[in-house]
Amino acid sequence: MQRAIRLKLTPSPAQAVSLKETSRLFTEAFNQFVRLGWDAGVSNATKLHYLAYYAVRESLPTLNSNLINTARAKAAEAIKSAFALRVQGRTVGRPMSGACPPRYNLHTYKVDWESQTVRMSLVGERQTIRFAVPAYCAHYAGYPVDTADLINRDGVWWLHVVVTVPAPVVEPTDEVIGVDLGLAQPAVTSNNRFLGKRVWKDVEGRLFFLKRKLQRKGTKSAKRHLRKVRGKQARFRRDCDHVLAKQIVQAAEPGATIVLENLTDIRKRSKIRKHTKTSRRVHSWSFAQVKGFVEYKAEERGCTVVAVDPRHTSQTCSCCGHVARNNRRSRGRFVCRVCGFELHADLNAARNIAAKYHASVARRDAGGLSVNQPIVPTSTPLALE
Ligand SMILES: [Zn+2]
Repeated sequence: MQRAIRLKLTPSPAQAVSLKETSRLFTEAFNQFVRLGWDAGVSNATKLHYLAYYAVRESLPTLNSNLINTARAKAAEAIKSAFALRVQGRTVGRPMSGACPPRYNLHTYKVDWESQTVRMSLVGERQTIRFAVPAYCAHYAGYPVDTADLINRDGVWWLHVVVTVPAPVVEPTDEVIGVDLGLAQPAVTSNNRFLGKRVWKDVEGRLFFLKRKLQRKGTKSAKRHLRKVRGKQARFRRDCDHVLAKQIVQAAEPGATIVLENLTDIRKRSKIRKHTKTSRRVHSWSFAQVKGFVEYKAEERGCTVVAVDPRHTSQTCSCCGHVARNNRRSRGRFVCRVCGFELHADLNAARNIAAKYHASVARRDAGGLSVNQPIVPTSTPLALE
């Protein structure tokens, strides 16, 4: 499995100048590729090479040719995603980067874990730079490296390196954990864990109203402020999703199966959840991100992640199986109209999610195709960043 780790570079003052100049030229190469590709309507990396390589090479003679090629690959990606947005009917201008992190590969850098140095191509010549491994990712140090991005954050140089680590040898167990992703309570598992923080919803709500206020104002400074708030919101959600994913995976034993609801078409869910005030989060908060984080962390623990159809999980009685809209909760409690079973509503949903998985496995083992409630095996995740 692939993991992203950060190496903190400690360059000499002269090396720091070279790092900066390399980053500047790389960004320049990226922007030139984007400009030429954009004007010609080209987003294919190979076509972009034929179109622009020699022009860029000539204008930036001191930049390593391999770095020019990775700049081209990044530019092709940027053009492609901008074109994709345009197809969706969005108005997008030509992408431009103020600081595009140079992408290194096996031809342009070499990590020596023993001496904690990295030899990398910079303007002028190859340099050997010392690095330190932060404690939190030290257990991934020493493994074979793939690509790396050179990043400057607040004056500190980092190398974000993708390493290939052996997957843990864990026998799959019979344990199945259903997870209900909710609003007031971010996650509830079928083994009775209440995860995440309720206060997240309040923070999200405050940011929502702030954004709306700024959008209405519409002045130049309000727009600037709005951009900042958007960034803050994205970082906040990302942090929450990291914490939540970690807690979800820790709630499962190694080798267990974690069952999520497939909320990719998330609007369906807002019909189930009647709370109009909280349905805001449902529309805007990315399920894909939290799912990706869960998969990433589950892989390390030898757990499998699957997703099931979310329909009726909140309206079904996890005790007798009765499905009815008016089974629904009052003040977060689920009460069954038929058998009288009573439980925390999200916990009831989590149990139904686990049961859905059990049912589809039983159908599969019986040789039948699971037509109504397919198990969707989730894809193998790559590095997080
Ligand atoms: Zn019941």
